[in-house]
Amino acid sequence: MIFRTPLEGVEHPEMEADVVIVGGGPAGMACALRLSQLIDAHNAAHPDSQLSKENIYVLEKAREIGQHCLSGAVLDPRSMDELLPDWRKEAPIESEVTGEAVYFLTSKRAFRSPITPPPMQDHGNYIISLQRFTKWLGAKVEEAGITVFNGFAGSELLLDGARVNGVRTDDKGVDKTNQRKSNFEPGYDLRAKITIMAEGTRGSLTKKLIEQMHLMSQEGSGEDPETYTPIVRNPMTYGIGVKELWELPAGRVPPGQVIYTMGWPLTSHEYGGSWIYGGRELSGGGGNTVSLGFVTGLDYPDPATDPQHVLQSFKQHPFVARLLEGGKMVRYGAKTMPNGGWWSMPPLAGDGWMIVGDSASFLNSQRLKGIHLAIKSGMLAAETALEAWLAGDSSARQLGRLQKKVNESWIHTELYPVRNFHQGFEQGFMTGMLNTALLLATGGHGLHNRYPAHPGHERMMQLWDIMGQPEDRTALRGPARGDGQLTFDKLTALYHSGTRHEEDQPAHLIVRDTDICSSRCAHEFGNPCQFFCPANVYEIEEKPEEPGKKRLRLNPSNCVHCKTCDIMDPYQIIDWVPPEGGGGPNYEGM
Ligand code: SF4
Repeated sequence: MIFRTPLEGVEHPEMEADVVIVGGGPAGMACALRLSQLIDAHNAAHPDSQLSKENIYVLEKAREIGQHCLSGAVLDPRSMDELLPDWRKEAPIESEVTGEAVYFLTSKRAFRSPITPPPMQDHGNYIISLQRFTKWLGAKVEEAGITVFNGFAGSELLLDGARVNGVRTDDKGVDKTNQRKSNFEPGYDLRAKITIMAEGTRGSLTKKLIEQMHLMSQEGSGEDPETYTPIVRNPMTYGIGVKELWELPAGRVPPGQVIYTMGWPLTSHEYGGSWIYGGRELSGGGGNTVSLGFVTGLDYPDPATDPQHVLQSFKQHPFVARLLEGGKMVRYGAKTMPNGGWWSMPPLAGDGWMIVGDSASFLNSQRLKGIHLAIKSGMLAAETALEAWLAGDSSARQLGRLQKKVNESWIHTELYPVRNFHQGFEQGFMTGMLNTALLLATGGHGLHNRYPAHPGHERMMQLWDIMGQPEDRTALRGPARGDGQLTFDKLTALYHSGTRHEEDQPAHLIVRDTDICSSRCAHEFGNPCQFFCPANVYEIEEKPEEPGKKRLRLNPSNCVHCKTCDIMDPYQIIDWVPPEGGGGPNYEGM
């Protein structure tokens, strides 16, 4: 068992806070900036009742704002136009989108779609590096007078029954045997009137809140007529995007070019596809950066599926290999993304808390876009928070206005018509495409108003079942070898992620029962953790004291914080918790 027990006898200093935002990604930063704007407007209009920004805090677990942010990324500008109308003049934009293409790949050939389906049309959108963009947005937040604590992770929610009263930050200076080091510093208890979870995909505090308060399975069934949200929700489902940044000779994938592919190397039983985005021009003449990645749905059937291998296979397709010839891979990373959509959203608010962004499944998987929704949800949470602040009421009833605001905003207009999109692919690619056509024709209704979904790990097949399947999955299975030019093994790729953790700290991957690894999991699933982790954190090795017997070995300092293990382990015995703040990848330019 790999466990982390709380240190005993630690006094945590307390700080009062009006609002604490956990997570400094696009949702958290947009929330902070909007709140600051609203406070400025309020103070200008009410000289006798001034609000202070002094006790508003953003917690960000990365050393620097943006370092843990990873996405394709193409930005739909809609929410930024509302947040900062002049943002184009100063934000770091790689390129405006100038051309689009969609291809279907077989193992040898690429067929270009004669038209770009409307959800994949990107004219008017912008190619960005999410790291650079979030760093810029974070600087705006700090300029506005809001405190951002970099290198501080939220480690626990401060609960009083069903009420969230704030967040405890991580203790620093704890060694791997869970003892205090000489530089030990206890975490702070930030006692907040309002806590906003903006942790990104599969947020660790959000997960605890959902579990402890049974938020995804409240009693009843059907749809709430006032909020259109399901009373019993679909489980959250995810995909993992594995990304590389390349530098390519001029003309291959020019700045502004967007390419999407479907098909190979996936078979008809996996969900996913690729993106190739032409980014900024390289200084020194010639060439530009290109963002290239592959999303593999985390509901694949074969336990030996390795999403990093999927990307390496994709690059060997003649169509892609030709594009990359003579180029150089410069950065690597991976991150999960929620693709369950509208029916998978948890309740957005309760006593003292709200959830925004990827943590609340605000992503349009049909468009492969979520940044604009994360930003908008953060803005709406800021408006809700200010109203609650002025009313002196942060109850579930007051903060529950967030759901109404979402329902009355363009978030609902965008997400509700695609509410059944991802579930349509649970029966395979062809069924999914037919379903997509049906959804388009019926305004998202399809055969039923609501299609159910299943947690991805439940769809993984056991070894003897997958052996009987006819599909050739060699391009997906097991670790990629890599030639060091076009393709890379995981450790070589990982080197390009800038990942760094304090080595002497407790493991932040909590495996609740390691006996399962060597007994049941080895026989039933072949230890899929060694494949689905894109950073080689999980290794299965022979027990030195018992030759022939296997055991799990962890390399937590490799972790790129993608959360795949937390989502995909078939027995649900892995908990990802934040490591000591400041550790993790450094997605510079990604
Ligand atoms: Fe991702 Fe888990 Fe591996 Fe970390 S350990 S890189 S969160 S799969």
